[in-house]
Amino acid sequence: MKQKKFILQEHEIPTQWYNIQADMPNKPMPPLNPKTHEPLGVDDLAHIFPRECCVQELDTEHSWIDIPEEVLEKYRFYRSTPLVRAYALEEALGTPAHIYFKNESTNPLGSHKINSAIPQCYYAKQEGTTNVTTETGAGQWGMALSYAAKLYGLDAAVYQVKITMQQKPYRSSVMRTFGAAVVGSPSMSTRAGKDIITRDPMHPGSLGTAISEAVELATTTPNCKYTLGSVLNHVALHQSIIGLEAEKQMAMAGEYPDTVIACFGGGSNFGGLAFPFMRHNILDGKTTEFIAAEPASCPKLTRGKFEYDFGDEAGYTPLLPMFTLGHDFKPANIHAGGLRYHGAGMIVSQLVKDGLMHGVDIQQLETFEAGMLFARTEGIIPAPESTHAIAATIREAKKCKETGEEKVILFGLSGHGLIDMPSYEAYINGDLRNYELTDADLQQSMSRVPKLIND
Ligand SMILES: *Cc1c(COP(=O)(O)O)cnc(C)c1O
Repeated sequence: MKQKKFILQEHEIPTQWYNIQADMPNKPMPPLNPKTHEPLGVDDLAHIFPRECCVQELDTEHSWIDIPEEVLEKYRFYRSTPLVRAYALEEALGTPAHIYFKNESTNPLGSHKINSAIPQCYYAKQEGTTNVTTETGAGQWGMALSYAAKLYGLDAAVYQVKITMQQKPYRSSVMRTFGAAVVGSPSMSTRAGKDIITRDPMHPGSLGTAISEAVELATTTPNCKYTLGSVLNHVALHQSIIGLEAEKQMAMAGEYPDTVIACFGGGSNFGGLAFPFMRHNILDGKTTEFIAAEPASCPKLTRGKFEYDFGDEAGYTPLLPMFTLGHDFKPANIHAGGLRYHGAGMIVSQLVKDGLMHGVDIQQLETFEAGMLFARTEGIIPAPESTHAIAATIREAKKCKETGEEKVILFGLSGHGLIDMPSYEAYINGDLRNYELTDADLQQSMSRVPKLIND
């Protein structure tokens, strides 16, 4: 009998997160104070984020970090998630490759984001915080955070990118269902928002503008902490639960991946799935290939530069060493809202530099074509973000068809697209298009990046 799904029992769920920083051949360079350019320590970050998250952020020593029992208890609400062999997709492609996907779309709110929302709210609650704030692009993180805040009795305020509020109207309804306050960004409720609207009244908003506003709220409101759904090291740490489960589940299937693929916004679902496997490349001589799939309209890994840059549009955050398109880069209004971010996480940026992984960029129409094929074969409508991973997987599977290689490919299904139907509707009606990013636009946004790295 061909087994389709591999599922761990609750007692088999990993009880520690994996911190790849401890095992990296070259550690990520430190975040810098934007004024003094001095490396930042835990105390410098702890007025913005929950302190324990700051400790985890800068921990380059411990490979394994215990998951608090109170977090594990909430993980058991929905974990483990299934590892699935995509037989129907393989058949449709006529590929000899074995394709597996780790299905995070079964989580509460339909994406992997809840895996980090829970510990971030737990640590905030532990230190006596009453309010949390954040930004959200596509709305997935805002929804997950709203629910996690409710689980721990915290009040949540979410700045949502204006353009996605219009493209994806029900996201804010979901957040309000969980009791969060939702504001479209840029807004007039913060100094950062006012400045951006004054410069550009029609600004559609970006993750960068929303981060500026949420950080300002957190630093000017007592007992309020900022939380972030991607990019930072501690978020990838929490998401490692995905890959640690997948490692056990691949063993149940009697296989080990030759290729691991995930879509790439800031790196949290990629890191979560990939890092536990990458540790075997670093420590045990495995040769798995790691591919991060990004949109051609926001291609920081394939066309960005490795520089110290701000995490937000207004330049409030620390300077982070990352592959960036420039902190005021304005990505095209593609439907994969969660991938419209100008920079890559610090860990991934270092790993790309060191050749341990690489990016591929994919145009919007190819991603939706892949999403449609996946829906019609495996029966799950993927999030527009996740379709990037599927498109990259299909490229690899087609190569296998040509070469006859029986590669084992594992990809991350980071979320479902059931509240992204306006995007699918537009694709089906032929109203979506590709976006070319010109060298001139890229040069312009890069010209405002501080040049602190000489190489
Ligand atoms: C947020 C999101 C992403 C992109 O964020 P990463 O940190 O790169 O994972 C991808 N897929 C889904 C479904 C998301 O919600």
